[in-house]
Amino acid sequence: MAAGPGIRHPGMVPAKKAIEIVLAGAGPSEAETVALKAAHGRVLADDLISLRTQPPFPASAMDGYAVNHAGMIEAKHVLEMIGEAAAGHPFEGSMEPHQCVRIFTGAPVPDGADTIVIQENATQEGNRITVETPPDSGKFVRPAGLDFREGDVLLPKDTVIDPQRLALAASMNHPMVPVYRRPIVAVLSTGDELVLPGQEAGPGQIIASNTFGVAAIAESAGANILDLGIARDTIEHLTACFNNALEKGTDLIVTTGGASVGDHDLVKPVMESLGFEFIFIKVAMRPGKPVLFAERKTDGKAVRLLGLPGNPVSSLVCSHIFLKPLIRLLGGYPADTIKPAKARLTTSLPSNDERQDHLRAIAKRTEAGELTVDAFDRQDSSMLATLSNANCLLIRPVNAPAASEGETVDIILLRDL
Ligand code: AMP
Ligand code: MG
Repeated sequence: MAAGPGIRHPGMVPAKKAIEIVLAGAGPSEAETVALKAAHGRVLADDLISLRTQPPFPASAMDGYAVNHAGMIEAKHVLEMIGEAAAGHPFEGSMEPHQCVRIFTGAPVPDGADTIVIQENATQEGNRITVETPPDSGKFVRPAGLDFREGDVLLPKDTVIDPQRLALAASMNHPMVPVYRRPIVAVLSTGDELVLPGQEAGPGQIIASNTFGVAAIAESAGANILDLGIARDTIEHLTACFNNALEKGTDLIVTTGGASVGDHDLVKPVMESLGFEFIFIKVAMRPGKPVLFAERKTDGKAVRLLGLPGNPVSSLVCSHIFLKPLIRLLGGYPADTIKPAKARLTTSLPSNDERQDHLRAIAKRTEAGELTVDAFDRQDSSMLATLSNANCLLIRPVNAPAASEGETVDIILLRDL
């Protein structure tokens, strides 16, 4: 199956360019409205405007006595207490300048009062309150609108809702919020040799492992996953699986395996028959040379295909590099999600060839806060155990010269350190 004229970028595409191509034109899906609790981690699809002023009334910041400052001075610090205001229970009457009201944190400051005397600074005998240490005028009163006012745009469109912003949206009185829809990502393993974990593996069969990791990466990037299981290496079965995904409104189909140019690698011909245009079919990277990217646009809606190699390590590395940032953009997240960190080599590395290399490696943070990195010796792309022992990928750029111990390299962290 040679690179035909239908492929927009035939031949081997440099890894950096392939990432740019995959991310170009990827933007958020339409908005949906969700309950506030479900909005954690989502991205606002519209400005969120406050429906309330907070606090809605001048409120006491302390437990004590609400006083009129000028009246207190005139009354020589001795005041008559005429009632009580607690949070949720305002004082209903009105207060003369020589009077005061017992008040608690969060209670509305009564009309006529402008200052709070904290309880530690006053003594009480019956209704007679003596202010021992008079505060400055206005002390411990939170004016209405101290936090925000009705109509303020406190959370603009495209804000990622973290726990603090979730609480703010609640305070603004929004029970529901508009967020970008999560992209629907269909995940499909391909290969006659594959069975699911727990199923009996016949002669020549192995357990399908890839898509568990791929789907987990997609889900943690913000996708809703449609698990399509395992497709056999036949045109009919693959076509049926893809049609199923398309009928369910999938935004992105991710396959593992069958993306190469062997007789049993059918993803490309089947997707072409379903109207997908191939943008590239090979990337100059290791692991992961056979990576397909294709698109179909119907009625303005784009469906994308990312065909990942079957080798478990390749498929997971490619998911970190292509799939995760693509899903982030489709979910409306800012584009800067993959930022390699810098780390210092603790061993030397040989020179690299024309494929960008992603070596499984272990990064450590020194006491001074600097990162160091050491790559595993064996990097076979079938070895998942090494990948699971690694906590980062060490990037070796195209044609990088040999690197010695102490040099700085780029790494992609796979876990928090
Ligand atoms: P392929 O890209 O289909 O030629 O597959 C390359 C290698 O990856 C073969 O050794 C496959 O058996 C293996 N492989 C393909 N899909 C999976 C999968 N879902 N889980 C584990 N290994 C796989
Ligand atoms: Mg295969």
